[in-house]
Amino acid sequence: MLDPHDTPRFGLWDGHTHSELCPHGSFEPTSAFVERAIALGFERYSLTEHPPLPEGFVDPAPQQDCALPRGSLERYLEHARALRSRYADRIEVCVGLEVDFIPGRERDCRALLDAVGRALDDALLSIHFLPLASGYACIDFSAEHTQRLLIPYYGSLQAVHAAYWRTVRSAVEMDLGPWKPKRIGHLTLTQKFRLELGEPPLEWTLEQVEPILRAMAERGMALDVNAAGLKKPGCRQLYPPEEILVLAVRCGVPLIYGSDAHAVAGVGQLRDEVAQIVTRARGAGASALP
Ligand SMILES: [Zn+2]
Ligand SMILES: [Zn+2]
Repeated sequence: MLDPHDTPRFGLWDGHTHSELCPHGSFEPTSAFVERAIALGFERYSLTEHPPLPEGFVDPAPQQDCALPRGSLERYLEHARALRSRYADRIEVCVGLEVDFIPGRERDCRALLDAVGRALDDALLSIHFLPLASGYACIDFSAEHTQRLLIPYYGSLQAVHAAYWRTVRSAVEMDLGPWKPKRIGHLTLTQKFRLELGEPPLEWTLEQVEPILRAMAERGMALDVNAAGLKKPGCRQLYPPEEILVLAVRCGVPLIYGSDAHAVAGVGQLRDEVAQIVTRARGAGASALP
């Protein structure tokens, strides 16, 4: 797999994208996504589809469309490999996955990585689900879903965030074998509905995040600097926001742009705006170094 420290300049690698096979995507041909990336001048493009969820895990999204259907992983990998060869002289396409870290289903995560890790050029590790008394809830489905399922179970919005941060921390610290992804996806996904639900105080969030960033740096892990949050009407904020990026820079965690495109128009979205935020964060992070 790619070394997250060996990266093109920020903004020349779109490290988080989905494909025509994504059940909640636009179903436009993946080749059109890649051609858009070429037109925008990207040098590297990671295909990071959601692999099928573990056997017996009930997809908590009402349409059950969070991930590739079971049994279709090999088809996706072949599709991604074909695009990698087809465009090899124009852009470096990386065959990758956005692997879910699901609390309570860590063995399945390890088993998936053991089975397919060798076939991957790149991968993200993301958290989209938190457990309930029975089953799971999506943390990013809707404000209503969070209010109806997560807040009553955990007791408060801040407790939901706390459970999320504990989960991210164990995702970073857990031994998931030699093919463990080296990048954490959309680190502040629980902020997706912050303008509707509110959010914990920034100071508190920074306290939760700092040890996670240190643990990431120790393990050579990088951050997906994910533009999608800026577009969400209930969020309007980068995943993660600038204050966290400053901490990441201070801790020595590499930052990699991710559009999280689920449609051709999303490829490279807000790249220049995100690059400006990253430049500011790098300046602030560097000047705070001893
Ligand atoms: Zn998706
Ligand atoms: Zn995601």
